[in-house]
Amino acid sequence: MKSDRFVKETQNAPASVITRRQFLRLSAMAGAGFLAGCAVNPVSGQRELMLMSEAQEIEIDRQNSPHQISGDYGTVQDKALNNYVAGVGRTIGESTHRPDMPYSYHTLNAPYVNAYAFPGGTIGITRGILLEMEDEAALAALIGHEAGHVAARHTSQRMTRSLIAGVLLSGVSAAVDSRTGDLVAGLGGIGAGALLAGYSRNQEREADALGLEYMAQSGYNPEGFLGLMSMLNDMSGKNESAMAVLFSTHPMSSERYETAVREVDTRYAQARRDRPAYRERYMDHTAGLRQIRPAIKAMQDGDGEMMRKNPENAREHYENALKTAPDDYAANLKMAKCLLSLKKEEDARRYAEKARAVYPEEPQAMHVLGMTNIRLRAFDKALSLFDDYEKSLPGNPNTTFFQGFAYEGMGRRRDAAQKYQDFLGKVNQGDYAEHAYSRLKEWEYI
Ligand SMILES: [Zn+2]
Repeated sequence: MKSDRFVKETQNAPASVITRRQFLRLSAMAGAGFLAGCAVNPVSGQRELMLMSEAQEIEIDRQNSPHQISGDYGTVQDKALNNYVAGVGRTIGESTHRPDMPYSYHTLNAPYVNAYAFPGGTIGITRGILLEMEDEAALAALIGHEAGHVAARHTSQRMTRSLIAGVLLSGVSAAVDSRTGDLVAGLGGIGAGALLAGYSRNQEREADALGLEYMAQSGYNPEGFLGLMSMLNDMSGKNESAMAVLFSTHPMSSERYETAVREVDTRYAQARRDRPAYRERYMDHTAGLRQIRPAIKAMQDGDGEMMRKNPENAREHYENALKTAPDDYAANLKMAKCLLSLKKEEDARRYAEKARAVYPEEPQAMHVLGMTNIRLRAFDKALSLFDDYEKSLPGNPNTTFFQGFAYEGMGRRRDAAQKYQDFLGKVNQGDYAEHAYSRLKEWEYI
């Protein structure tokens, strides 16, 4: 069967396609000259070369962040927890240099330790990092740091530099995505790697200073900032895979920690004596997470094994995770992906269906189920899953490819050709593109 190669390789589906398209679009816009220009940096008040206008920051965020959020297994279903984190976020957002940005705060099901910000103000915080913090002041510090990246327009700065240097964003993005812990990232969607690729050390310094300023202005004890820094500093020494992405995007250093200590000891000494850190409130709202701490840790261990390409070992960790948290969306979906890489499609389907049942609004399970059905050669089922996925999370070119692949399997050559043509309009290199191209040629569409 000629097509089997693709079915296998979907485990490593190219994660870079959207960002490549973005790169092309950004280049085109820059070439047209209406985009690149000087703008006042909201933080420094100085004029800087910025490739993106504020409207474009918001638009790029709007198009990309839903894919990343779904790649991180969606927003937690625990509404009280999500509202709590968002409430802390709103307080911080109002203290920033860009209070009018459309900030939104998402507590993510992903178990790895991470937080990120898209340029329009979408901020993601994982269950993994919430488990590591000990009070609300530390959470405020973390959100303050991420909001600092937004306020100082760090993504715009980086895009500008990257494009001027001619760096191919698609390469950057693939490198970042390979560290997310999902060997099968391509199965469930695509991350927005290039947008979230590493900040420079200077940007980290600035985000730290802003984070401390914002959280202190919001009334929190600046000690919380030290709590966050010492947690990160301790973890950065351990080289755990669960932390790899966080440190690749936000480089940690003892200098960051020492600077924080100095600032808190001097400028914020009074606030440190007087202000609350809201430890109890934090512990109350995150109690549900700590109850399933063993499951979250087991998922982190499983992800580490998946990254080291040991799905057999990963499976045991995911089994342990499911013992503690049998209805956990991420644990079920991770197990499904692990089983797919072990070529146990029937078992994978069971877990993916369980995942879909416990969180029907979250699209990633549909994608994984679609892939599972492709492998099982149940092409009509696969097609309807990819159609649903496209409706709920449009814009993933892999979906277009697999819709075509399903049509091909069903013998509907004309529909398949249409999808392959659409796909090639968005992506013109890689295994999928080769497959689409060779079929179109074989069928004499080109
Ligand atoms: Zn950072």
